[in-house]
Amino acid sequence: MHAKETAAQAIDKNAAAIHQLARDIGDNPELGHDEHKACLWLTDALREAGYSVTTGTAGMPTAFDARRGVGEPVIALLCEYDALPDIGHGCGHNLIGAASVGAALGLAAVMPPVTGEIRVIGAPAEETGGGKVRLTNAGCFADVDAAMMFHPADACFLMSTSNALDALEFTYHGRTAHAASRPELGINALDSVLQLFNGINAMRQHVPQGVRMHGIISEGGLAANIVPDRAVARFYFRAPTRGMLDSIVAKAKKIAEGAALMTGASLSVRSYEDSNDNMIPNRTLAQQFGENLRSLGFTDIQECRTGTGSSDMGNVSHVVPAIHPYLPIGQFTGHSKEFAQGAVSDEAMETLLLAAKCLAWTALDVFKQPSLLEAAQNEHSEQRQAEEVSPTPTN
Ligand SMILES: [Zn+2]
Repeated sequence: MHAKETAAQAIDKNAAAIHQLARDIGDNPELGHDEHKACLWLTDALREAGYSVTTGTAGMPTAFDARRGVGEPVIALLCEYDALPDIGHGCGHNLIGAASVGAALGLAAVMPPVTGEIRVIGAPAEETGGGKVRLTNAGCFADVDAAMMFHPADACFLMSTSNALDALEFTYHGRTAHAASRPELGINALDSVLQLFNGINAMRQHVPQGVRMHGIISEGGLAANIVPDRAVARFYFRAPTRGMLDSIVAKAKKIAEGAALMTGASLSVRSYEDSNDNMIPNRTLAQQFGENLRSLGFTDIQECRTGTGSSDMGNVSHVVPAIHPYLPIGQFTGHSKEFAQGAVSDEAMETLLLAAKCLAWTALDVFKQPSLLEAAQNEHSEQRQAEEVSPTPTN
């Protein structure tokens, strides 16, 4: 029998277990870096299917690395399984973990005779902590040839862009004083934060399309009659490419320094979350995923969407050809309670099996067609080069 049919049959045979994984994780939402149950359930299923599993990858207790097969190429299937506060699985990450494990169960049925290595990588804390950033920085994808996952959505589109993101916290230190009786002795840290907002608002006219800059004042003083000696602002800066974002952030830091000079406050700047790179979707692999969807009878397929959010899959896509296609589970807004209910619905369970089969089939195509991987890798290096030569100038 053809390897694809064998893999699909193995997924169908394990359908009840794959659905149970998605429902158990969906019904037991755990926040980023606290996904102990999900990590245990997913790794138990992988061990049973003959994968050798290690946990605690890249120093994260709820990360894992499960391997099966020998030789090359090496294909990573990524799992997410973290939830949102209050909302639960309003981004459907219960389905992402279960789909990649489902694909791994299907592939286990054909390896051997198919050669190559499957790595199922458990990436915690997509929503908050950027688990894939740490996995990437720890070299987990250094010897991987291609990386894949799926994400639930309201429609099918094979590719989506996402913005590079830096999360910066600006802290101004001034000098406290009585705001009415001795204001001349004070250095008002809050005034620096206000000037920071004014400066960044002035910059908005002069940034390229697609840039997003949004901030809050997280500390602005203690009482109206005390000159604030400490004020803090937190910003997200986003741009369509890492190079463009680096130039935007360099300008924002100059504005922040200027805002300190205007009051005499001192300034410290730090990243308060891991930075994300923009997603570089690999068209070659995405189109192969689309071909497999059609072969599996699913035809309502869009090519690409422009995404203005950010994802830590972007960091993975900068080091290895990667795909992050979307499949529909219903008409719900992302990050809502309705989406969380939809992510354990019967429709979602159908999509889950489709995703598992399509991931397994695309992995088999890469294993069996060296020219496909070569094309994906050539495309990846061309895209990386194009990004490096096109950042916006700083001055
Ligand atoms: Zn998500």
